[in-house]
Amino acid sequence: MKHGFPAGTVRIKSRIESYEDLGKGQGVCATLSDGTKAYGDVLIGADGVWSQIRKVMHGLGDGAGGFAASGAAGGALDDAEARKLAQDTVRIAAKADRRFSGFTCYAALAPHRASNIEDVSYQILLGEKKYFVSTDGGGDRQQWFALIREPAGGFDDEPTPENPNPKLTRLRKEFSDTVGDADGNVWDPFALELINASDEADIKRRDLYDGAPLLATLDPQRMLSPWAKGAAVLCGDAAHPMMPNLGQGGCQATEDGYRLGQELATVTHTRDVTGALGKYSRVRVIRTSIVQGFAQLGSDLLVDFDLMMTIPILGPFFLTMTQLSMPWILRFLYTPEF
Ligand SMILES: Cc1cc2nc3c(=O)[nH]c(=O)nc-3n(C[C@H](O)[C@H](O)[C@H](O)COP(=O)(O)OP(=O)(O)OC[C@H]3O[C@@H](n4cnc5c(N)ncnc54)[C@H](O)[C@@H]3O)c2cc1C
Repeated sequence: MKHGFPAGTVRIKSRIESYEDLGKGQGVCATLSDGTKAYGDVLIGADGVWSQIRKVMHGLGDGAGGFAASGAAGGALDDAEARKLAQDTVRIAAKADRRFSGFTCYAALAPHRASNIEDVSYQILLGEKKYFVSTDGGGDRQQWFALIREPAGGFDDEPTPENPNPKLTRLRKEFSDTVGDADGNVWDPFALELINASDEADIKRRDLYDGAPLLATLDPQRMLSPWAKGAAVLCGDAAHPMMPNLGQGGCQATEDGYRLGQELATVTHTRDVTGALGKYSRVRVIRTSIVQGFAQLGSDLLVDFDLMMTIPILGPFFLTMTQLSMPWILRFLYTPEF
């Protein structure tokens, strides 16, 4: 992207602190964290679940925005930042209307060819209060996520000479394939195969948050045009953070970008920008809210699935309905025109 524009157009490591709408057709002025001002016809807030742009747009007040990337590839840069972030996000979430999912997530891309790669490219190991997801990362690498149910704000011990790898130590206990975990459950050895193939420094941890589908809001401006106001607009996790259980957060962000491009392509004068952004927002909100809702449901039910199946009538009914509706759900997910 950087090379497709004249030198100096694309600036990295530029955090937006706030922005001001300059009036119809006049664009926006964004203030960066180094104090400089940047002017533009449109401001696209694709700044993740703790979006500063959303904070300003929705008038959320102090402390409702942050700087953490939260997507699959995101997380803190190092363990010290991860510890700070774990605490910060508890505070930001309370002010920013974000919902803690109940899960903390450890993730890494292991430089390892999985022993079952010829047969399985995506796998979930389900357990009590936690689950382990792995997927082919290409080029003899395997991406894995370990989601563990626990309160928000937790962080790992600092390394000591006795325990130089606290994250690995914890994960080896949580997914033990010999003595079992704290609940006595013995795990399939595949989880440890990937955990043991990862370096402590490559394992990132973050608590997972999402946001209630925006149609649930009572704010009239947000209902009318949830992710657009003036010349500013929200995309991706900033607009609709969702649980990773459908693998759709990044997909929906990509669809947002495509749809936004279509709407902006119709603009011939800057005074038309507001209308185009509003249309994008209205077109995208229903689909993304449905996907968000399904992802939330999937996350909430996954580790309690066995328990739910023990409820007479309701359990088997839910299972049958899930099986019957799955082809339609998948069709919906993979058809962006819906
Ligand atoms: C465990 C896990 C597994 C996932 N698996 C999948 C999957 O299989 N498929 C899928 O489609 N999705 C998946 N997702 C979701 C996906 O990662 C996110 O939905 C996606 O990354 C969202 O992209 P984004 O650009 O909106 O936000 P982010 O990826 O969070 O990026 C936001 C960016 O904005 C920057 N930023 C933040 N604040 C500011 C600021 N004030 N000024 C300037 N820049 C700022 C951040 O540094 C970051 O670079 C997964 C998520 C998780 C947590």
